[in-house]
Amino acid sequence: MAILEEPIKGILKLKNYINGEWIESESDQILDIINPAKQKIIAKVPMSTRDEVNLAVEAAKEAFPDWRRTTPLARARCLFRLKELLEENFEELSRIQTMEHGKTIDESRGETRRGIEMVEVGKGIPSLMMGYNLEDIAAGIDEYVIYQPLGVFCHIAPFNFPFMVPLWYSPFALATGNTFVVKPSPRDPVSQVKLAEMIDEAGFPPGVYNVVHGGADAALIMLEHPDIEGATFVGTTSIGKEVYKKCGETGKRAIVQTSAKNFLVVMPDANIEGTIPALMTSFFGNTGQRCLSGANLVIVGDDAFYKKFLNAFVDTASKIRVGYGLDESIQMGPMQSADGKARVLGYIEKGIKEGAKLILDGRKPTIVGDYPDACFVNPTVFDGVTPDMTIGREEIFGPVASVMRAKDLDDAIEMANSSNFGNADSIFTSSGKAAREFQYRIESGNVGINIGIVAPMAFFPFSGMKDSFYGALHGQGGDAVRFFTESKVVIQRWL
Ligand code: NAD
Repeated sequence: MAILEEPIKGILKLKNYINGEWIESESDQILDIINPAKQKIIAKVPMSTRDEVNLAVEAAKEAFPDWRRTTPLARARCLFRLKELLEENFEELSRIQTMEHGKTIDESRGETRRGIEMVEVGKGIPSLMMGYNLEDIAAGIDEYVIYQPLGVFCHIAPFNFPFMVPLWYSPFALATGNTFVVKPSPRDPVSQVKLAEMIDEAGFPPGVYNVVHGGADAALIMLEHPDIEGATFVGTTSIGKEVYKKCGETGKRAIVQTSAKNFLVVMPDANIEGTIPALMTSFFGNTGQRCLSGANLVIVGDDAFYKKFLNAFVDTASKIRVGYGLDESIQMGPMQSADGKARVLGYIEKGIKEGAKLILDGRKPTIVGDYPDACFVNPTVFDGVTPDMTIGREEIFGPVASVMRAKDLDDAIEMANSSNFGNADSIFTSSGKAAREFQYRIESGNVGINIGIVAPMAFFPFSGMKDSFYGALHGQGGDAVRFFTESKVVIQRWL
């Protein structure tokens, strides 16, 4: 199918959305947002000044008292209107994500859908936020718990799901009566601007939701701000650790979701036909730039099974159509940036140096269509990888599969648990016993059983362990409702 018409019209220099107004930044530090497939500038984003970040926090603080007194049902009605607007603008939102990030249009549609689901779940807040009580804890005395919002929360977003990730938090924060400041990733902030336009139209009062553009400086100003009650961060482990520390120092609640190195274990009794497509999406979907992406493929079994499975995996990977994501026939887009591509190429070099066998080399990309290759890498597969090699240990965040071999399930679990990360591991098997054993022992927050991408639905927490998560409560679902509220205990007696 022909490439769809590009929708970004009139967006050039992005503005901040503060107190219900679109305000141009006075910063002279402005970055280009580049469509990675076409290498064309689609927008410019300012690195906001300290005063601008402070203004956004101030607006959120001022909006809080009235917003918390707005009834949960009235708050939910704003989310209902937002949901309608998101549905009406579904295609445009998705196309923007493909242009700013590079993912395929179908991946963008999936991202938009997942984002909308967060809003849908947030609409249930009158029930989700209910407390509980017990009569007669002593003669004539009752005790109960009420959940109350805390104030201003912020979100510091990663580049890999520019539209969806901030929505893991904001609908829950807003529905519970808090106010919010989002700092999108400076690499692909356009869909967040589009979202804010809809939030504005949906009737949220000024100051309840704010967007301020920037990078590390803007994030640090928010993390140090005394009027911010809590922070949500998604990004790399090295930065996340610092964010968590800062939140501790400034007394903020924190959800910090960080890097990953996910193991996918294939048992000899796995259904090969069903498993291969799931693995393709896991390893190469979103061009490997998912915290839930497969990274290490661990095959358990004898020589014949190993060979047969690996051949099927490599053969299917080699046929993935790589190109510009707005072309509906494309299965994998470019890396989001040239820097991302350079990092992946560096890891491929390291893999070769450390003795892994490069059996599918994606370094000289074959691209469908006439596009510059600045950000493209084709699916790449290494055989003979061990968990101690750099490519077996560190997050590559690109379309590179490291294949390992395990004697048995125990060996495979041990390999996976040797990782510092614990985000999402999966087993492929037809044995309930093996699956249960894996689920029981694996040190990972999100566990897949015959599932390639273990993405929890909006009404479940998005979990994580070890160096993939810092905090106590997770984003999404009931955890998010608890995170964004304080439980207040009341004991009452009427004399
Ligand atoms: P990143 O850490 O480079 O940036 C994330 C955000 O932090 C950006 O908004 C950036 O501007 C900001 N930032 C940069 N320096 C900072 C500093 N010193 N202090 C505070 N904030 C700072 O991450 P990224 O490359 O945008 O995202 C990819 C990473 O995110 C991968 O490691 C991926 O695994 C991870 N991720 C994790 C999850 C999860 O649920 N665990 C989900 C998505 C992505």
